[in-house]
Amino acid sequence: MAVELPELVGGALCLDVANSVDGRVLEEPLDYLATYADLVGWALRAGGLSTAEAEALRARADADPEGARDELIRARALRESVFALFHGYAQDGAARPDQLAAVQEAYTDALRHARLEPAGEDLCWTWDPDLRLPRWRVAQSAIDLATGSSLGRVKACASQDGCQYLFVDTSKNGSRRWCSMTDCGNQAKSKRLTARRRADRTEAR
Ligand SMILES: [Zn+2]
Repeated sequence: MAVELPELVGGALCLDVANSVDGRVLEEPLDYLATYADLVGWALRAGGLSTAEAEALRARADADPEGARDELIRARALRESVFALFHGYAQDGAARPDQLAAVQEAYTDALRHARLEPAGEDLCWTWDPDLRLPRWRVAQSAIDLATGSSLGRVKACASQDGCQYLFVDTSKNGSRRWCSMTDCGNQAKSKRLTARRRADRTEAR
């Protein structure tokens, strides 16, 4: 079944990946990352993978479906830690030590496998196309955001229908409240979630 994917509103890879669960406070949240291929597609769309990397990862996942399934579980676990960390900051200006430790661990694991290489006039961390690559890039993005100057600008959508999407508020006066005016701003998201649940129920029959 084709599900309309939500627009990317995070302003940072780690937040866009954290936002791959819709309606987190609802009884039936909608997880867009059901398969490893979904993870690759989402990361590609969010700018966390190049097209060539995504192709290489899809081929690896085809060759090692069990490894891909296991990695999806780990990537989703990191996604939940990233969400909890930034949601904590957005709500209370603080996060729990276990959430910090989980993101830190993912980042140090990423660096253990990274090479420092020239990229144009800069240097950057690069990785071989490994099934773990999406997770490593998300960890890098999370640390960049957490240690940069935008942490205080991370917000959670003010929608009452359980959206909880995270985004970096880049508006001049810091007044952004919604993940998206065309989505939560006008109820499109709750309509989409309702449609998805209806489709799931029909499929289950
Ligand atoms: Zn929203």
